[in-house]
Amino acid sequence: MSDGLQVSDGLPQSTGDFYERLRAYEGKAAAEAGRGKDPVNEPMIRHWCEAMGDAHPAYTGPDAVAPPTMLQAWTMGGLAGHTARSAAYDELTALLDGAGYTSVVATDCEQEYLRPLRVGDEITFDAVIESVSEEKTTKLGTGHFVTTRMDVRTNGELAGTHRFRILKYAPVQRKPRGERPRPVINRDNEGFWAGVREHTLLIQRCGECEVLRFPWLPGCNACGSDAWDTVEASGEGTVYSYVVMHHPPFPAFDPPYAVGLIELAEGVRMVSNVVGVPHDKVRIGMPVRLEFQRVDADLEIPVFRGGEG
Ligand code: ZN
Repeated sequence: MSDGLQVSDGLPQSTGDFYERLRAYEGKAAAEAGRGKDPVNEPMIRHWCEAMGDAHPAYTGPDAVAPPTMLQAWTMGGLAGHTARSAAYDELTALLDGAGYTSVVATDCEQEYLRPLRVGDEITFDAVIESVSEEKTTKLGTGHFVTTRMDVRTNGELAGTHRFRILKYAPVQRKPRGERPRPVINRDNEGFWAGVREHTLLIQRCGECEVLRFPWLPGCNACGSDAWDTVEASGEGTVYSYVVMHHPPFPAFDPPYAVGLIELAEGVRMVSNVVGVPHDKVRIGMPVRLEFQRVDADLEIPVFRGGEG
């Protein structure tokens, strides 16, 4: 077919030709000569910190820096939008729309920080279409991942990069496969899942103030340090709270079942399944013990068995 698109079972399927047309956009600008609408400023920093509940002292006072995670906020166009978006990006979007990939979902972003931003810094940015994936089938539908990388500068110096990935896809009613969802493993939590594979439950411990934290995070919420090591959980815990899921039904699960918020003996809490007890016999305060449940060939998960204490 000349437009590189075949349709079978109602699903668009990219042929090699179509993918080559998509890939031709790799390396092209997604946004050019963007300028932040406002310089880095105290009111936006204050609003951000209030919304995040972040009272770190570095973000106030005469030597204040902006929270690094605000990087993208300084580039946003607001309600009126920006004129920085490139024709190439609009063309790529139109090409995907025309092939039936009409829906979009933001899947993830990664940021890197190279220097702090301070009040008064003027922001410029540009963005490049870094990659367009081959056609992928996800639970939402079949489509292509489009990754853009935005370089944010101040006074001509690179302050940070913001890498943003979307899925442009054709939403379809797929037959449920009944497969348990995979955990999302990233740079921040891969150590946890490596531990699970070896049947250990690892809790992060701040390298500075030694506060334990779970789930895994890149920094300490108590002191802000990014230094950490791990301690292995004993596996003992109690049900701190729980819900019994009835609805909505999900193919991989068999309701009703109990989802517990487990307080580990070490003091941190984690969400997991309570097994070995009928869903209507789970109680707050019930002692539980860690075990590893094999879901399928690729996945083991930590769960908590009750009813033996
Ligand atoms: Zn700490």
